[in-house]
Amino acid sequence: MVPSTIIELTFPEPDIGLLTLDDPQKGANVLSGGVLAELEGQLNTLVGRKDLAGLVIRSGKKGSFIVGADLREFVTSLDAPPEQTVAMCDRGRRLFQRLSQCPFVTVAAIDGLCLGGGSELSIWCDRRVMSTNPKAQFGFPEVKLGMFPGWGGTARTPRIIGLANALEMVTGGESIDSRAAAAMGLASDVTADDKLLAAAIALVRAEQKSGDYLRDRQRWNGPIEINPTELAFLGATASGYIQQQTKGHYPAPLAALEVMLGATELEIEAACQAEAEAFAQLFGSPVNRALIHVFFLGDRNKKDTGIDRAEVVGRPIKSVSVLGAGIMGQGIAAANVKRGLPVVLADAAADALARGVSSVLEEVSYNKATKAADATKAVQMATLLRGTASDTELAASDLVIEVIVESLPVKTQVYARLEPQLRADAILASNTSTIPIAKLAAGLARPERFCGIHFFNPVRKMPLVEIIRGPQTSDETIATAVTYAKSIGKTAIVVNDGPGFLVNRLLFPYMNEAVQLLTEGIEIKAIERAAKEFGMPMGPLALYDMVGLDTSFYCGRVMWEAFPDRVLASNVLPVLMKAGRLGQKSGSGFFVYDPKDKSGRGKPDPEVEQLLGHVLAARTQVKPDQITARLILPMLLEATRVLQAKVVRSVRDVDLGLIYGIGFPPFLGGLLYWADTLGAKKIIEMLKPLESLGPRMQATPLLLEMAAGNKKFYEMG
Ligand code: NAD
Repeated sequence: MVPSTIIELTFPEPDIGLLTLDDPQKGANVLSGGVLAELEGQLNTLVGRKDLAGLVIRSGKKGSFIVGADLREFVTSLDAPPEQTVAMCDRGRRLFQRLSQCPFVTVAAIDGLCLGGGSELSIWCDRRVMSTNPKAQFGFPEVKLGMFPGWGGTARTPRIIGLANALEMVTGGESIDSRAAAAMGLASDVTADDKLLAAAIALVRAEQKSGDYLRDRQRWNGPIEINPTELAFLGATASGYIQQQTKGHYPAPLAALEVMLGATELEIEAACQAEAEAFAQLFGSPVNRALIHVFFLGDRNKKDTGIDRAEVVGRPIKSVSVLGAGIMGQGIAAANVKRGLPVVLADAAADALARGVSSVLEEVSYNKATKAADATKAVQMATLLRGTASDTELAASDLVIEVIVESLPVKTQVYARLEPQLRADAILASNTSTIPIAKLAAGLARPERFCGIHFFNPVRKMPLVEIIRGPQTSDETIATAVTYAKSIGKTAIVVNDGPGFLVNRLLFPYMNEAVQLLTEGIEIKAIERAAKEFGMPMGPLALYDMVGLDTSFYCGRVMWEAFPDRVLASNVLPVLMKAGRLGQKSGSGFFVYDPKDKSGRGKPDPEVEQLLGHVLAARTQVKPDQITARLILPMLLEATRVLQAKVVRSVRDVDLGLIYGIGFPPFLGGLLYWADTLGAKKIIEMLKPLESLGPRMQATPLLLEMAAGNKKFYEMG
């Protein structure tokens, strides 16, 4: 038998076995091959015990049950042939299935995160109890990695909680809390953490008395009871919803739907077999690999302190001031308030400040369930937000983030006024999109306490924060900024100074090219469609509207001054700005916006073409893939320049930055990961017909070198 180092067997009562999982090597329990072997060993000895009334499985780690299979082990099998994958599914499932066949009641006691393989282990138990701890979440996030549960999860779950609930959980990939789990019969009891074991034992006793678990075992081994009309309706609505959400880019949710619908009339054994076979089709597919790659990008980033000196630690930030209550200032203030940090918000314009305060409160008090602002929450949150016109109040925080107009003279003037009033240990940061930190810090008395903390729009949706190191920024300031960004739930990457830093430097060529295509006579909808079909969350012209045409214009000017050889100046933005079309914030830009439509989606507006008539060439048509190449390749070429200029600390930060900052399609794994799947030679081939457009479309020295040496970006470390 495998010696148990992770799963301990104890007997809290003579007839109750208790398996406690606690991997001393890991922060959270994962189901590695070793853990599964230990579980098998424990079950081998337990199944023969006629004296047991029940077995409880729990985690020794507070706030975390089992977070899934060991992905690092999983990736080593990505190249395995389908039969081997089916066998891997079979082995795991048969092991868990034993929990539903033991001669006693089995109960999973869940007081924390229970995900993926952990959820499958639990679902094969007769019953589950969950704690009221908000960390107790139950979910099947596999679709987010381009697969679905493969250890019987898709087969057993609908038999317990009903097909509709199971479809939502498996194909949506979102977790549910203990209250929701109880409501759908997934959890039999919900109780405080410290009463969880007692509740699990009480459940064993109740089940032994009623014998219900035996009847359920029999029922759950059979087909699902659902009438054909309901089944057809469920299938059609779920399929429509999934297609609308995934836009054909993510195959796993539809594959999960198909396998679950197809297995309703099967016995559990055959349903599990169908699951394993369908799982093997997805496992190792390009999307599966790309999404696993993205998962590891995020996972690795979590451990990154942003600096290379381990002895420097970030100082905790306990209060934040935000100067500028526009689009970004509001989003940043709200992100802080949501995490309980007191915020002082200021703006030069009194009306902008008043609007800012009320919109922050609206955002932070939003209740997802009722889809409206929650008055009680608003009152609570209001204590954390203070609008002010006083510099003294503004300067009193640990961190002051400047979020005003994108203008070097305006920003530096404000710093000259504010810096002398800041506490000696306070950090001053700018949310500038493009202006180099060195230029902004030029007149500061303490440039070492200044850096860029660049949030992305919309702040509530985009997880990225770029921390920009100026030439004089200290390691302490960077470490503090990274710790701070993480403390409000953001993913931080540290980048070196330069126009546009990382993300905007790469985004800009893409957006600039969209305007260029427009001036060449390509229709707005053709440009937007090509970008969305590539997988971008919105078209580049809609993105202009979201960013603000004025802000984009000022940013564009900075980029044009820095890279005049490849940034094209155009009259498009000035013409629209002159007509008062600043984008979403003014109700119109490239599109027109209905203030009552909270989706933020604009509608086409014929007035745009009238206004721009004299700037645009005659209408012409280009194939969608040519438009895509025009939009994406300049971004990739800029990435090669960024790598050569050492703006980033790692190739990974380029991909993570674009996925988390602008929503670059995760199913492609990131810009450089995608480029690696094509290879440098192929990219050079794609650039050939575009070369005549000038330096912005010509292969860079790094790309040429990679093509010559058959190298990949990810080999650069
Ligand atoms: P915005 O126009 O929506 O808001 C700017 C606010 O700053 C306005 O309310 C204005 O009244 C105020 N302001 C201007 N000058 C001021 C001064 N001297 N003192 C105090 N307040 C002043 O702009 P925004 O989109 O929120 O952008 C603000 C900053 O964030 C810019 O540096 C921009 O480049 C950057 N940024 C913007 C985006 C975006 O998508 N809009 C994304 C990331 C970063």
